[in-house]
Amino acid sequence: MISAVLQTSFLGDMVLTTPLLERLAGEGRVHVVATPANAALLSNHPAVASVIVFDKRGADRGLGGLRRVARQLRAVGAQRAYLAQGSSRTAALAFLARIPERIGFDTSGGRLFSTRRVPFEPSLHHAARLWQLANAPGDATVPPPLRPSLFPGERERAAVAALLAAHQVHDGDPLVALAPGSVWATKRWPSFDALAAALVRSATLPNARLVVLGAASDAPLAAAIDAAARTVGAPPIIDATGRLSLLGSAALLARCRVLVTNDSAPLHLASAMNTPTVALFGPTVPALGFGPLAERQIVVQHDTLPCRPCHAHGPMHCPLGHWRCMRDLSPAAVCAAAERAAAERAAAERAAAAQ
Ligand code: SF4
Repeated sequence: MISAVLQTSFLGDMVLTTPLLERLAGEGRVHVVATPANAALLSNHPAVASVIVFDKRGADRGLGGLRRVARQLRAVGAQRAYLAQGSSRTAALAFLARIPERIGFDTSGGRLFSTRRVPFEPSLHHAARLWQLANAPGDATVPPPLRPSLFPGERERAAVAALLAAHQVHDGDPLVALAPGSVWATKRWPSFDALAAALVRSATLPNARLVVLGAASDAPLAAAIDAAARTVGAPPIIDATGRLSLLGSAALLARCRVLVTNDSAPLHLASAMNTPTVALFGPTVPALGFGPLAERQIVVQHDTLPCRPCHAHGPMHCPLGHWRCMRDLSPAAVCAAAERAAAERAAAERAAAAQ
């Protein structure tokens, strides 16, 4: 069986599609249609035979682009298409590529182009929902707990090694990662600088160096974190914002004791690298299906605000004006969660080494 998986949504969605890719790879070759950014994430992935780039907002915009990419997709000879992204445009792509079986969610905008519709289970993690696309008709099997997978290569590891060497970080030096950014403003916890100061003083994470991950546009957030850490005597942070590819960021996360992150792409990179994760949720909730999947993970969130969740992604402004879902999360509580996640992982590693 030759499969095509169409995933042209956000980066996190692509990471969460990897368990489906691995499942399908057990049955034959798997070709993936991805945005340019998502395509880079799949480099070296052993489950992926090829990636067809669909630049839906750029070079492949419009009917001409759709037809061009459909021709490329048709050439791989897929018998089944899995519509992991639910838009009409993505479903039309599989239709135009004349893939005979097209499987998507029953809630998707593109369901008219599907030949089989799979129930979208709101209660499941999104990785599990995507995995269910490969269930046989009528089979509602729920997978065991899933972990996504990414495969940074030599290039990414070398980039990380160069970055760490530039900051005089040596093998085995403890690193704590912070990911303060998000595309959606209300998902950006405003106290990462205070957290940085608390982490520097932490007796549980002594001598840990702080790493800030994110896009180039997150550099001001990294600068604020750096300033706060230095006021309590820390060495300069390792500012990785805009300096590493996504797979490079994943490689760096593999080196970190713990990641503290908003509900954003680094959360999913950490799940793939099994980095202990403290995830801060404000206007969204893990029950929407996008919580962390690392073995050690702690969600910090406001448990009693009746307005949560207020948006599938997080609005740009709090509709109530107070933004308490994020402002009420205390740096002390987040620091304690980071200490706990890192300590649990260290204890597990010691136990494994002792066996
Ligand atoms: S309405 Fe509530 S959940 Fe939404 S941003 Fe405001 S405080 Fe957060």
